[in-house]
Amino acid sequence: MIRSVVLGITERSITKKLVTDTPIGRSVARRFVTGESLDSAVAATESLNASGMAVSLDHLGEHVTNLEEARKAKQSYIACLKAIQRSGLDANISIKLTQLGLGLDDDVAASHVDEIASAASKVETTVTIDMEESAYTEATISIYEEAQRVHGNLGIAIQAYLRRSAADLDRIVPLGGHIRLCKGAYVEPEDIAYQSREDVDASFDRLAGILMTCPDTTPAIATHDDARIAPILEMASVREGPWEFQMLYGVRRDRQRELAALGHDVRVYVPYGDAWYPYLTRRLAERPANVAFFARALVGG
Ligand SMILES: Cc1cc2nc3c(=O)[nH]c(=O)nc-3n(C[C@H](O)[C@H](O)[C@H](O)COP(=O)(O)OP(=O)(O)OC[C@H]3O[C@@H](n4cnc5c(N)ncnc54)[C@H](O)[C@@H]3O)c2cc1C
Repeated sequence: MIRSVVLGITERSITKKLVTDTPIGRSVARRFVTGESLDSAVAATESLNASGMAVSLDHLGEHVTNLEEARKAKQSYIACLKAIQRSGLDANISIKLTQLGLGLDDDVAASHVDEIASAASKVETTVTIDMEESAYTEATISIYEEAQRVHGNLGIAIQAYLRRSAADLDRIVPLGGHIRLCKGAYVEPEDIAYQSREDVDASFDRLAGILMTCPDTTPAIATHDDARIAPILEMASVREGPWEFQMLYGVRRDRQRELAALGHDVRVYVPYGDAWYPYLTRRLAERPANVAFFARALVGG
């Protein structure tokens, strides 16, 4: 409910202008985004790596409006992969398919994924495909299946709020890639998505149980919610094979460090780039306290 209200307000162009054109808007964004340049992301990654955590780098952007922008996004990911190699980072990349042309020309998006996966394989790293709005779920999974069969170095995000996700796991687990389980960050209708916090949490726990007991995949448990983390810690003691926690840059930093200090693999999702507005709005919508903090900052309180 709160999410749809916040996202409804932030979609208005006047709100966007207020946030992106003011120093205060940019400074709030800096909590969740390293900065606009690749260098800022490299510096943040070095610091997280030094604290014993791996990173997934996200060059922000989504819903491009023409194929030239999609081509540029692909190039930016290839530049990012080169930086990972050059700086010896413990990092992979996360990509959004609507940034690579999904919805405009799905074949072009698929061919960009193919090129990016190939470049990632040369620098011996992996690619995670983020999951976006439900209009793109099916196409995203299909592109993932094809690319993973060819390259074998991809993973994909699955959203616990979608009713279809258990069936999607049956489909993608046999492909052997890593699977990031998250709750889901968009506003989706009742017929395809659980609406209440309890139902989403129950779905998350169910899917996490499937992943953590499945030897054919590498689960990436992407949550900051202690009630979701607790059963994972129990399952971890009997799990055979790799798995990791994933958390967002700027969210629950202490918990990230604590889990790493306990000896768990932790990967921090690190976004950078100038197209930070939609990403910021999702982070604000996740937590009412963020909106209050932002509103106070805007009015100078
Ligand atoms: C690594 C990673 C990758 C993700 N990839 C995707 C994706 O591909 N597709 C997708 O739809 N969603 C993605 N998400 C977002 C996810 O779906 C949730 O919207 C988000 O993680 C909040 O859910 P939560 O599990 O942390 O639980 P919540 O119950 O929302 O949060 C638990 C606690 O964490 C803290 N917290 C959570 N979010 C924030 C915040 N924004 N600001 C401050 N504190 C916060 C608060 O203390 C809160 O009480 C990703 C999340 C992570 C961690």
